[in-house]
Amino acid sequence: MLQHPSVREAAAAHGRGFVTTLVKECIAQTREALQAEGGAERMPSGIDEIAQQVATRIEDLLAPSIRPVLNLTGTVLHTNLGRAPLPPEALRAMERAAGAVNLEIELETGRRGDRDTHVEEWLRRLTGAEAATVVNNNAAAVLLTLNSLALRKEVPLSRGELVEIGGAFRMPDIMARAGCRLVEVGTTNRTHPRDYRDAIRSRTALLMKVHPSNYEIRGFRAAVEARELAEISREHDLPFVHDLGSGTLCDLRAFGLPHEPTVAEAVRDGADVVTFSGDKLLGGPQCGVIVGRAALVARIKRNPMKRAMRADKLTLAALGAILPLYRDPKRVAERLPALRLLARRREDIEAQARRLRPLLAGALAGAAEVSVVPCRSQVGSGALPVQGLESAALSLRPERSRDLRRLAGAFRALPRPVLGRIADGALLLDLRCLDDDHDLLGQLDHLEIGRSASRRLPPPVRS
Ligand SMILES: *Cc1c(COP(=O)(O)O)cnc(C)c1O
Repeated sequence: MLQHPSVREAAAAHGRGFVTTLVKECIAQTREALQAEGGAERMPSGIDEIAQQVATRIEDLLAPSIRPVLNLTGTVLHTNLGRAPLPPEALRAMERAAGAVNLEIELETGRRGDRDTHVEEWLRRLTGAEAATVVNNNAAAVLLTLNSLALRKEVPLSRGELVEIGGAFRMPDIMARAGCRLVEVGTTNRTHPRDYRDAIRSRTALLMKVHPSNYEIRGFRAAVEARELAEISREHDLPFVHDLGSGTLCDLRAFGLPHEPTVAEAVRDGADVVTFSGDKLLGGPQCGVIVGRAALVARIKRNPMKRAMRADKLTLAALGAILPLYRDPKRVAERLPALRLLARRREDIEAQARRLRPLLAGALAGAAEVSVVPCRSQVGSGALPVQGLESAALSLRPERSRDLRRLAGAFRALPRPVLGRIADGALLLDLRCLDDDHDLLGQLDHLEIGRSASRRLPPPVRS
């Protein structure tokens, strides 16, 4: 095999050891396939066929695994799709930071510096907090804060705020892993100030409020507002920690969105420490931000666990480029893709859908009926879970409902995979996040539907 011209060429280009391993893998695979099929019925693979497999394998391995997709799911900050899209300012900053940088060095004195200084000034300005530090994500921010301020101590938390954010982030588990004891107070639907007061003992470390993020309790409910909790904390000389989840830095009402408490409001309402995500409504890179009183932030930063959770230079560079975009709240939606997409008006999206409908219908050539339907987008990442945002979608409805999954598969198989959502027997492409029509139109030629003579969908792939 190693004498085969194409394999020899590959070995010269990519290294002999790497290619030899692939040759062995492909031979083993061929052998297995032949045995499975009862060998004799099928001609043994020729050497050329195996060489071709090797070439394909090399191509696959060298192709980037993380690829851009079109998020037409209707969930703007989709965790599985990488949450907030970053603006060019952030990309340039990350590129600048790729080599050696002044990450932890004071250029004036030559002394050891602190990586948080690159974002702290802007975080202070935008939140009104005294100090700030950045970790890998908000889950880490909460874990580190609790471990730093409440290790082996008690933390009362309302039963209405024992949230599961998704994946493995469940408040009771995080508390346990942070080494503190959760003291449940109140009930699922109603918690009162006296519940907290009754729970406070000598072993209480702090009071905490967790933004319920991804659900809402309606009806007969009562919660203790942040301002009141801050007051109770002060009465007992305890820090008050507010996990905001999706921390926003500006008033979303300016973009026609429902109000979501901002970090500045949480600070003003008396939180001593506020934790929030960088890649939710803030619209930045994945990170968790901790802001608050200088003495408490300093304690958090001294925790050896901080070292295991600290943000890297690329993240800090991106965050450092994004925070200044908030200097003029009136223009932030123009500058920050996440907010721009969230602020898009239904009328614009619907006009876009009408524009695209006939083109998509043409590409599908009768394989599915295409119509424009109203829908609701989700902010995603647990923010504003109930309201949804009025939007418009292209509804792709195949004649036979069993073709639906294959239709969705054909869109996922495009050079830039298109992800929609399936609802009521149709594939919905919510156009809220389609910035440029050509991103979709440009690849319709590659759609493997309706091109065959029978205008039928491709047969299902057998596993
Ligand atoms: C999203 C969220 C988290 C976790 O944040 P990540 O950045 O996803 O780690 C924690 N707490 C709340 C309230 C959240 O909404």
